[in-house]
Amino acid sequence: MTHTIKHHLTDALLMAYSAGSLPEAFSLTVAAHVSMCDECRARLDAFDTVGGALIEQCEASRMSAGSLDATMALIRAARPEVKTVPRRGGILPAPLQDYIGGDLDAVRWRPVGMGVKQAILPTSKEATARLLYIPAGAAVPDHGHRGTELTLVLQGAFVDEVDRFGPGDIEVANEDLNHTPVADIGADCICLAATDAPLRFRALMPRLAQPFLRI
Ligand SMILES: [Zn+2]
Repeated sequence: MTHTIKHHLTDALLMAYSAGSLPEAFSLTVAAHVSMCDECRARLDAFDTVGGALIEQCEASRMSAGSLDATMALIRAARPEVKTVPRRGGILPAPLQDYIGGDLDAVRWRPVGMGVKQAILPTSKEATARLLYIPAGAAVPDHGHRGTELTLVLQGAFVDEVDRFGPGDIEVANEDLNHTPVADIGADCICLAATDAPLRFRALMPRLAQPFLRI
């Protein structure tokens, strides 16, 4: 990848991911960024090491008698799992390909108006993950956030009030950010976005459409 990643995950998100306490939609987005970003992978390793050290210092609690034998018996009885080799390469990072069961051609897009398309991914209810397809030069309506919104660029780029975000960049938006992301003219922009609360649109039309799009 020629693009240098400039926008990274916060320590708070990496720590929560390492602790396993993020909603599934956020975990998926963090995993996708980490798979594209050496810097965040190294930082995540550091947090994982802290977790490992904590576990080592925990007092052991005894398991019931026969636990080891039962486990070994299960391992011996297990038949080797035949796994299809996931396709690597393509536009989507590996954690996303695992979710979708393929690359971009396997995504089931739904139009949301103005040429923008989305595909909501199956995750637990606390947060929503969606793929967004924004045609080159198109804008996402001006909006604010009631919770946290993570946006990871997979293809193309977008510009908003904060900066320009290219492939691998992740924008972490909170209650204090209002923005109007506009896709670069060079290529259609594809993003993975995770939200834990409905967005706050200023214009009436997107507000009316909101409940139907689950945005
Ligand atoms: Zn990063």
